[in-house]
Amino acid sequence: MKLKTFQPEDIAGKRVLVRVDFNVPLTGDGKVSDSTRIKAHVPLIEELSKAEAKIALCSHLGRPKGQVNPKYSLKPIAEELEGIIGKKVAFTSDCVGTAVSSAIESIQPGGLAVLENLRFYAEEEKNDAAFAKKLASPFEVFIMDAFSAAHRAHASTRAVVDCLPSFAGPLLIREIEILSETRDNPRHPFVLILGGAKVSDKIDVIENLLSKADTIIIGGGMSFTFLKSQGLEIGHSLCETEKLDFARAMSEKAKKQNVSILLPTDVLAASEVSAEASPKTVPANAIPPDLMGLDIGPDTRKIFSEALESAKTVLWNGPMGVFEMAPFAGGTKAIAEQLVKITGNGATTVIGGGDSAAAIAQLGLENEVSHVSTGGGASLEFFEGKMLPGVEPYII
Ligand code: AMP
Repeated sequence: MKLKTFQPEDIAGKRVLVRVDFNVPLTGDGKVSDSTRIKAHVPLIEELSKAEAKIALCSHLGRPKGQVNPKYSLKPIAEELEGIIGKKVAFTSDCVGTAVSSAIESIQPGGLAVLENLRFYAEEEKNDAAFAKKLASPFEVFIMDAFSAAHRAHASTRAVVDCLPSFAGPLLIREIEILSETRDNPRHPFVLILGGAKVSDKIDVIENLLSKADTIIIGGGMSFTFLKSQGLEIGHSLCETEKLDFARAMSEKAKKQNVSILLPTDVLAASEVSAEASPKTVPANAIPPDLMGLDIGPDTRKIFSEALESAKTVLWNGPMGVFEMAPFAGGTKAIAEQLVKITGNGATTVIGGGDSAAAIAQLGLENEVSHVSTGGGASLEFFEGKMLPGVEPYII
């Protein structure tokens, strides 16, 4: 999938509005606690700055529900960005109107401003055309660089495209290039690793990729619905009873299509989800009634790692256990380390965003795999085969 990007003459000396994703976690005292998403847009900011464009960065932060709420102000993010790029960043107290036009008027060519939270206006999430027009009016060009917001048809991701010459930014292009290659043209063997809490979140991904994958590894909380669907005792592990039929049907379909589905053979189990737990290793087909499976066990780690050994493409979405707690983080770590190893041997390893990205970052291995997506929801929808409204306008 190829996207339309800008040429030097499209941006040189122009007033450019950029949709970024600055929806970053803040500490209680309003400081940025993880600036990964901010840093992801720096290459574009630098390119625009060099071209002497006047740059305005717009984003949402949290869910202020269409109301002005200082708790969700982007001001701390403008300050953080100033530290990252080492130059002055203006901040506008509104994302539309004279606050923006006069800020753009007064910044020097190559200078930049961060606009206040788009979601202080209810019109943003309604993809409102009149609001998009106001947002666009001080500018000559629009660039969409927020892959992680591209699954939403909002005024700043979709309607704005009808108001200005619009282009995909480098972060969006890189994400789509890698993710579309993985989804549409994977090198085989292609192994899909799924984990995390719920089957229901991953149903469409399984359905869409079942015919493309050679092996599907299922760990994490969602594996217990699959184990239970085979009549096994899962204790009081997570289970979505209403998805048992789906799990059974998928297992049968996979068998018919020669796709192997690998489930845990042993698990680390405890009586409750607690960082103080002393887990027991138990067989996955006979978890005692008072215990719940909270991570994959040592045999499973070995089996899953062996299945990954010869993979040429791997897509991973969802941790293998409750990785946030030390006693249940080992399974996710083992898989991450195996991915690093096979990446070194030439495999393409792609990590969907969200919790899997958090897990790999927690291990400090995010630069040792082929790609960690910046968008949890967006990458999931992409792998479900959906057209993302914030990507569609740029497809060539
Ligand atoms: P998801 O957002 O669906 O990818 O789910 C991620 C969450 O699943 C993480 O917060 C994990 O703690 C949780 N999780 C993973 N494995 C288990 C498990 N066996 N039991 C309960 N929660 C789990």
